[in-house]
Amino acid sequence: MMSARSMPAPIPTPDTEAFWQAASESRFLLRRCLSCARTHWYPRAICPHCLGDTEWVEGPTTGTIYSYTVMRRVPVPYAVAYVALDDGPTLLTNLVDCDFDTLHIGQPVTLAWVATEGGPNVPCFTPAAESSAAR
Ligand SMILES: [Zn+2]
Repeated sequence: MMSARSMPAPIPTPDTEAFWQAASESRFLLRRCLSCARTHWYPRAICPHCLGDTEWVEGPTTGTIYSYTVMRRVPVPYAVAYVALDDGPTLLTNLVDCDFDTLHIGQPVTLAWVATEGGPNVPCFTPAAESSAAR
């Protein structure tokens, strides 16, 4: 599903070109360090933890809301959030296709690609379906 709010197309750089190419195919990539094996966000050629070289890997598509805010005093309200990926880094993103009044910190979310104005998809997140096993 699409967000009602239009998003400008991202401008790829040499460090992010492969990320946006994969995003246009709805594949979520992260950079992982060849020395310490940690992933990071945003994509960088040099590991921010140990300065090692990095490689592209498929990133997790689920996580939890670390923090968020809802922008309501704009023509089309939207939610900005930090999402802590499962077994991955935390990224700044948007929460889409959700009831802004029921969002909460710690809420499970799942990746939801949102189309941009003539560019690749951008990774946003939407609340994960409630699990009946969690009761
Ligand atoms: Zn490293």
